[in-house]
Amino acid sequence: MSPSATRHHQVLIVGGGAAGITTANLLRRQRPQLDVAILEPSEDHYYQPGWTLVGGGVMRVEQTRRSEAALIPKGVSWIRAAATAFDPEHNRLTTSEGETLSYDVLVMATGLQCRWDQIDGLSEALGRNGVCSNYSKDFAPYTWQSIQAFQGGNAVFTMPATPVKCGGAPQKVMYMADDVFKSRSGVGVNSRVIFCTPLRSLFAIPAYARTLQQVVKRRGIEVRFGWDLKAVRGAEQVAVFEVHDADGSVRTEELPFSLLHAVPPMSAPAVVASSPLAGDAPGGWVAADKLTTQHPHFANVFSLGDVAGLPTSKTAGAVRGEAPVTAANVIAFLEGHPLKAQYDGYTVCPLITGYNNVVMAEFDYSQQPISSFLVDPTKERWSMWLMKTKMLPWLYWNRMIKGLPHESRYLKPFAPLIHALRLDYREPAAESNAKAQAAGHC
Ligand code: FAD
Repeated sequence: MSPSATRHHQVLIVGGGAAGITTANLLRRQRPQLDVAILEPSEDHYYQPGWTLVGGGVMRVEQTRRSEAALIPKGVSWIRAAATAFDPEHNRLTTSEGETLSYDVLVMATGLQCRWDQIDGLSEALGRNGVCSNYSKDFAPYTWQSIQAFQGGNAVFTMPATPVKCGGAPQKVMYMADDVFKSRSGVGVNSRVIFCTPLRSLFAIPAYARTLQQVVKRRGIEVRFGWDLKAVRGAEQVAVFEVHDADGSVRTEELPFSLLHAVPPMSAPAVVASSPLAGDAPGGWVAADKLTTQHPHFANVFSLGDVAGLPTSKTAGAVRGEAPVTAANVIAFLEGHPLKAQYDGYTVCPLITGYNNVVMAEFDYSQQPISSFLVDPTKERWSMWLMKTKMLPWLYWNRMIKGLPHESRYLKPFAPLIHALRLDYREPAAESNAKAQAAGHC
């Protein structure tokens, strides 16, 4: 323990969101005597995947909230403060309460920050004139209000150039909105739905991108690749884009809208990005070995969840795969054993393609579709809508964050059956990887 530290814990977890709470529970289940603390300033814990359903009028925002106090595992200390500076050379950090904490192992689970400020005028515009975003609990209810109030014109949905949490969420809300608009077309609502993305594909994994391409075609949605939202003039209802054409030229375009669902650029929280824990890649994500989640320079630092610089997509589904590996390796590190647990990059993005339809997009580091459900995952399914709207919230609160096995653990042994049944949705790895890189990110 450092002489200047006021408190020491064997394991200090920074962040009590999906990743932090799950890891704490797993550690306590496996080593009940371990001294674990969670540093978390917020009194509330949110099930953020539910915010898409809030924006689509399927869930209320209150249903996505639980009190943090109720979720902190028994025996784990809750330090109600934020980390304000990291000093990994000396195994300590400073908190917003001015306290210094030291640790044997640090687990980074702070999530990410939405950079609303990086789109001119967006912060001021949100919540009025049809400008909404499911990426904030404060504005997701306004998404549903805006969809209901829509009387025709352009409904514009955007995606930023940075990695985002849940790469599919910017589109999911659009497909639900389109359903609502179409159901009202008989009474004179004339909508033009436009998806603007700086990327060159609808999804990083080609097999799922193909399904989404069919969905936008079927719906008559206009997709504008290379379109990056830069400014919003809310009162005028005009969105300003930097457009990168395929020939390399760049121009500015203004698009009038009646409804704008904006998704901000995202990065690691500033306190993390400016710390020695950040890797070299843009965004300031915590450097991490993609298999063990261990920091490459500070061996007693592990990271998972949205803040981790792991080459997979940022979802609660990914946390399901990352947390058991992180917990096992933290214990191995503390007990002086080699780090044997390896994360395969598993992540899942339930792509809502309309009310009652979901493509359960599961994949891993191979960039290939995989399925925990013994079905072709590239297909739209009503059963997966039930999974997304009913089962996954239940699994999150009652299994995942409690550190209990989830459904894919039970089904995994049957995976070879999928191949035996010749579900032909995979493609040659070389082609898949090249396309995924062209698409930018998950
Ligand atoms: P979070 O859950 O965000 O938790 C981070 C915690 O760290 C917070 O409690 C925060 O207060 C705390 N913190 C931050 N800074 C500090 C600090 N300096 N010191 C201490 N504590 C700090 N995932 C899916 O799997 N499926 C989906 O369908 C899906 N849809 C989504 C739709 C939307 C609209 C959004 C916004 C997200 C969606 N996600 C989805 C993503 C999923 O919610 C995140 O990937 C997941 O919450 C990440 O967990 P985390 O613990 O890393 O971050």
